[in-house]
Amino acid sequence: MFVSINQRLDAETINIVADEFGFKTEFVSADVVNAISEAEDKEEDLQPRSPIVTVMGHVDHGKTSLLDSIRNTNVIEGEAGGITQHIGAYNVKLPDGRKITFLDTPGHEAFTAMRARGAKVTDVAIIIIAADDNVMPQTVEAINHAGAAGVPIVFAINKVDKPSANPEKIKERLAEMNYLVEDWGGKYQSQDISAKKGIGINELLEKVLLEADLLELKANPNRKASGSIVESSLDKGRGYVATVLVENGTLRQGDVLLAGSFYGRVKAMFNERNQKINEAGPSAPALVLGLNGAPQAGDTFNVMETDQDARNVAARREQLQREQSLRTQKMLTLDDIGRRIAIGNFQQLNIIVKGDVDGSVEALSDSLIRLSTEEIQVNVIHKAVGQISESDVTLAAASDGIIIGFQVRPSLGARREAEKQGIDIRLYSIIYDAIEEVKAAMEGMLSPDIKEEITGNVEVLDVFKITKVGTVAGSMVRDGKIKRTNKIRLIRDGIVIFTGELDSLKRFKEDVREVLSGYECGISIKNFNDIKVGDIIEAYEQIEVKKTL
Ligand code: GDP
Repeated sequence: MFVSINQRLDAETINIVADEFGFKTEFVSADVVNAISEAEDKEEDLQPRSPIVTVMGHVDHGKTSLLDSIRNTNVIEGEAGGITQHIGAYNVKLPDGRKITFLDTPGHEAFTAMRARGAKVTDVAIIIIAADDNVMPQTVEAINHAGAAGVPIVFAINKVDKPSANPEKIKERLAEMNYLVEDWGGKYQSQDISAKKGIGINELLEKVLLEADLLELKANPNRKASGSIVESSLDKGRGYVATVLVENGTLRQGDVLLAGSFYGRVKAMFNERNQKINEAGPSAPALVLGLNGAPQAGDTFNVMETDQDARNVAARREQLQREQSLRTQKMLTLDDIGRRIAIGNFQQLNIIVKGDVDGSVEALSDSLIRLSTEEIQVNVIHKAVGQISESDVTLAAASDGIIIGFQVRPSLGARREAEKQGIDIRLYSIIYDAIEEVKAAMEGMLSPDIKEEITGNVEVLDVFKITKVGTVAGSMVRDGKIKRTNKIRLIRDGIVIFTGELDSLKRFKEDVREVLSGYECGISIKNFNDIKVGDIIEAYEQIEVKKTL
């Protein structure tokens, strides 16, 4: 092999070369290379730190109102005027002097996206639910995202001031989901509140602190700071600005900061009231100026000894990032499972189940969980009705999971994201197939004989009702191609409505054998007339796959 000095070799070649010289190789993941080695803190150096809290919930259930209410009533003494700028996180001080840091991220998607990047910044999650509404799909998602992260939950049942509010109904629904709240004899704390009227907020914060006490959160303020990036941007006047959340140590002006693949000396720091500060200790957020780029939310940061150190690590990370972006498959896929079991580092399989109706989602999830063996635990970390969304993909990425769709499809955004991140999305139309395939994968024997391949997607642009013929869909082939002989599925809002065959495929009144991407065509479906504008007709083939050893 002819290679240049800075070219990377593949693992196999490295092994051969090392072996030749009598060395043994050990491969470590990118995370290990990226990590900055840090000395463990001694027990006596640790001091209690305040908890970092995220509020999540369904839209319009009062997340913003709750955060506003907390902000306005708990302004740190002598600093009237409240918080003047949004920096993604802020600190409040309660009447008894204790502090809580709130992460003001735009929902559980952001929370999980940060987790996917390695940041575990939240200590306690508040799940807010409007008492005049119900436990909504996004509420369930938020609960599952917090659950997957292993973060304790406190429920805030909001809008109790409304005459139509029925907090007991919400608690009943939570109980049905196995989240039994305290006043029903369970272990989850919940508090009835009105974010608008300011009722129950202090009690809620008390409960959050109680939950935090159990975690015994500690940090050592007397060391160089480390933590996570909350958000960052390029500001016209000030250059790159980043909000950081210090998790350990104390960050000071003048420190050399390394965040993701960017670095720089801290020129100035501000708090959420736009006041200049000189240092930020454990659990404190700060707006930092001086980085040479905008790291991503969820990147970790460290304070380095010298500029040179920071530059070296940043360069190494950048190179690694470039190399990783060339590799497509880095996440778990069903096909990987057999191999990973063989090398013995696979103990649990995290699955996200999406389906067209509640019954099949439940049935499929139950059967999948029952596949658990002594060696491999199957967890359904999230299940819901509806199309596969971007947030499902993010959750899969953060939890090293796979997504199983039953009679549903990913949204365009989800498909793109899954491709980028290498997330395995498996689509099925028969529950039994899904279970068999997962089972086979767990036994390390995955090799389907007949595989389904989606060959094209066609969008319905117009619908004509023609007597004696039925419904004809004026359509456009969006990708791939559609053949007259293809089997098809009709998909509406990501859910499979009908599975069948074509009755006719025409271009300008002529019958044709196939239509390619970018062309219009007229389609009618055998025994099905309920076609609507915006539906997707998916063409698929069943192809035989050779068993591989
Ligand atoms: P978000 O989408 O979760 O951030 O919800 P918002 O905080 O924007 O609240 C949605 C709507 O509910 C707004 O019109 C609020 O005024 C209203 N709202 C929020 N909390 C309460 C409450 O405790 N009582 C009543 N009556 N309305 C509330």
